[in-house]
This record gives sequence, structure tokens and C-alpha cells, in this order.
Amino acid sequence: MSNNEERNKRHKRAMQRKKSHIDARIAEAQRDKGLLVLLTGNGKGKSSSAFGMLARSVGHGLKCGVVQFIKGQWECGEQLLFEGSPLVEFHVMNTGFTWETQDRDKDIAAALATWEKAVELLSDSDIDVVILDELTYMLTYGYLDKESVLTALKNRPESQHVIVTGRNAAKELVELADTVSEVADTKHAFNAGIKVQKGIDY
Ligand code: ATP
Ligand code: MG
Repeated sequence: MSNNEERNKRHKRAMQRKKSHIDARIAEAQRDKGLLVLLTGNGKGKSSSAFGMLARSVGHGLKCGVVQFIKGQWECGEQLLFEGSPLVEFHVMNTGFTWETQDRDKDIAAALATWEKAVELLSDSDIDVVILDELTYMLTYGYLDKESVLTALKNRPESQHVIVTGRNAAKELVELADTVSEVADTKHAFNAGIKVQKGIDY
């Protein structure tokens, strides 16, 4: 047998073993459940991943709600796209970044008003998917009460999926979440003096 044939045979055997292992694990995962997905870490890719899941959800005809707790100076492409969709309702906290407003009381009032929208979505069993974009900062800054946020997440409809984004997620949020991804900041173009790019950054 040639080296190549021997290698192909070994590959086939390894793939068969892998397939039976993966098939067994897929067969074991039988439960259906609304997931809490947490996207955190210092690297780029948290909000854009959340909006990727929104695109998937809308593609499947699911009803979605988006609450954005911080809004920067740029008009985000995802909002421009999904605001027109009858399947998506959007609520945006109408302040900018905390270092732009520099006004704690105003930020807290805006955070609370925006959180009320989130609570409505988290109490509505007609809503299949909720995105709470940049929610973690509201807890870090103490703008929202951590216990109230955790309670609303715990008491949401059983089949409702929630996606939370933002850096420095509280450990209670990490514990409560079903899926947690920490995006690492290996490199970012901004640090090389490149300005924000339409489509990639907003
Ligand atoms: P994205 O929306 O692109 O997925 P993100 O949600 O992971 O980013 P945020 O912390 O919310 O990250 O920041 C949003 C903006 O800041 C985006 O324009 C993004 O490109 C930029 N950004 C994200 N991470 C970094 C970083 N490590 N250094 C510099 N800029 C960053
Ligand atoms: Mg983000």
C-alpha cells in the first residue's frame, strides 16, 4: 500500500471515530431552552456577533427586540437595516458614551428609562429573542440595580433567548448565562491609528 493510501485509510478511521463521538453528543443534547448568551471581553466582535444572531433569527421569522444601552456618534448599519423589519423592535438609550455625556444623573435616568423597555420585552412571551447590547456597563457603573437585572433575566419566558453584550461582565451574569464567549483583543486597527470604518465598526 502506498503512503497516500495508508494515510487516507488512517484519516477515514479517525473520521469514523470522530463521527460516532459527535453523533452520540448530538443525540444526548435533547433539551430545548431559551438561552442566555453572554458576549464579553475586550476584543472586537461582541455586538456584531449579537446582530449576526439577530439576522439568523429574523431569517427564521422570529420576533425580536433590541435594546441598546449606549449609543455612539455613528448611525449603526444594523439599526438602519433592522429598524425597517416588522419582526424587530428597537429601543436605543438616547445618550452617548459616558465619557461624552459626563453627566451621571442624566445617564442614570436614561438607563432606567431604557431598562423599562427591556423589562417589557423580558415579560413578553411573544418575543423570541432579546438583545441587550452593552448592558454590562449599566451594572459596572451602578446605573442599574444588579439584582433587578438578574431577576428579570431569570423570570423571563422559558423559551425566550437573550443575548447580552459588553466588557467586564459581572460574575453573576457569567454564572447565569448558558453560553459565554470572551472575545480577546489580540489586535485592533484603531490602535494603529486607523479610524472607524463603515460596515466594519458601525
Ligand atoms: P463590534 O460592534 O464591532 O462587534 P464590540 O461590540 O465587540 O464591537 P464595543 O466595545 O462595543 O465592541 O465597541 C464598539 C466599537 O469600538 C466598534 O466600532 C469596535 O470596532 C470598536 N472596538 C471594539 N473593540 C475594540 C478594541 N479592542 N480597540 C479599539 N476599538 C475597539
Ligand atoms: Mg458592542
